[in-house]
Amino acid sequence: MPNFTDYGCGVPEVDDARKKEVLALRDTYLEMSLLPERKLGEVVRKELLQLVQHATSVSPWWRDRLRDADLGSKSIQGLLRSLPISSRTFVQGEFEDMKIFIPQTDLADYILQKTTGSTGQPVQVIKYNPLYSRDIDAITLLEWKWHKRDVRKKMGLFRLGSQDADYVRAGPPLEYIGEAAPMFQRSSVDRTSEELLDALFQHQPSYLLTNPLSLKMVAQVQIESPRRIAPIEQILTLADRVDDSLRDLVRQAFGAAIIDRYSSVEFGMIALQCPQHNHLHVIAPNVHVEVVDDDDNPVPVGEPGRVLITGLHTFAMPMIRYEQGDIVTMGKPCDTGITWPVIESIHGRVRSYVDGPDGDRKLLTLFTADFLLMREIQDFRLVKFDDTAVFVAQTRAELTSDQVQRIEASLHKDVFRGNQSVRILTQREPLRRPVWKVREIYIVSGAANPQWTIADIDEILMWAESPAE
Ligand SMILES: [Zn+2]
Repeated sequence: MPNFTDYGCGVPEVDDARKKEVLALRDTYLEMSLLPERKLGEVVRKELLQLVQHATSVSPWWRDRLRDADLGSKSIQGLLRSLPISSRTFVQGEFEDMKIFIPQTDLADYILQKTTGSTGQPVQVIKYNPLYSRDIDAITLLEWKWHKRDVRKKMGLFRLGSQDADYVRAGPPLEYIGEAAPMFQRSSVDRTSEELLDALFQHQPSYLLTNPLSLKMVAQVQIESPRRIAPIEQILTLADRVDDSLRDLVRQAFGAAIIDRYSSVEFGMIALQCPQHNHLHVIAPNVHVEVVDDDDNPVPVGEPGRVLITGLHTFAMPMIRYEQGDIVTMGKPCDTGITWPVIESIHGRVRSYVDGPDGDRKLLTLFTADFLLMREIQDFRLVKFDDTAVFVAQTRAELTSDQVQRIEASLHKDVFRGNQSVRILTQREPLRRPVWKVREIYIVSGAANPQWTIADIDEILMWAESPAE
């Protein structure tokens, strides 16, 4: 008996006009992926110019912010370098002023999205949904085309913060390209690796969408005690980083190729895996990616640097030269004819897992944490010791007891999913940042000393950056 949930009822029906529009945009993107580099650069420069002109024409705040814009510059680089870089802290603080109401639009069409606190500094962004969802849908279909997937084949989803279901309608945009098979879904936070493997055994999917850490955990269990699961063709990964050892592990466990992507809440899709190589291609018509050193100068191809992203269609809240918080290395041009810039590797957020009392391993994530919406919290670290969790935060002001309670309740309910002893330490000054590897949640073995101050915790994080992997 299939487990029908109301999940499918929320899926919209296929609208022919929109279908036509999305498919046309996908085809435009396909053509643009093969444009000669110089032509592509010209298209991107015009898009950025349009965004800058839009922002400065409707908002005095933006007019001031972009006052040095070199609108006459012949190159995208020239124009970009005349625009200021926006840090996360800046976007947190200036959120209200950064928002733009686009003339002649409907307020109901705007959506607010929050980041999952990947770097500890939660950020909220406003998007104009008709434009945003059309881009996302077209890019999704482009990705299906690049990787020659068949919508009639079954796909499984292991997702954060979603309920289990054995029948989930694929919905648009996949239904735009054929009779899409129903999918099944499991919560990657609530289910153990064994339970996730049970679902693969039950459904025998051709494709699986999951985050790399859940994938690594299930692949390890599958290798230790294999279930009869037919080879999976492709495993689509999102949210965390994939490396070659994971690609090998997954091929061994499931016979599957990993198809990765780079996305963020702020921009949606940023880069897609190449149809032929393991590197990623920046979705050039949608986002522009720069990689810079500590002095904000561009770094050469092959060298790591801070990634700055500009969303070319972020009309409701321009995200220009935004410091995403990841370290990226660009690669040499691709030999497939695709001219979109190559990202060789990304060092981004790293997720963690915990072992429960019964030995069950579970993903630990801030994905649905309510406290991320609290604007009082500018920056934070969550450190899980054996006996207690310590929440260290930079706040705008002293927290009220209600605010402290809200954080505690959110940690119990959204993060640890049960009672967990929590200590909250706050300060007004910025927190120190552990180098390179940014963890969503730090796991440190041993008990916490109740006397520890924020400086002590900082010190521990600097030294204990010992990945729980
Ligand atoms: Zn390529």
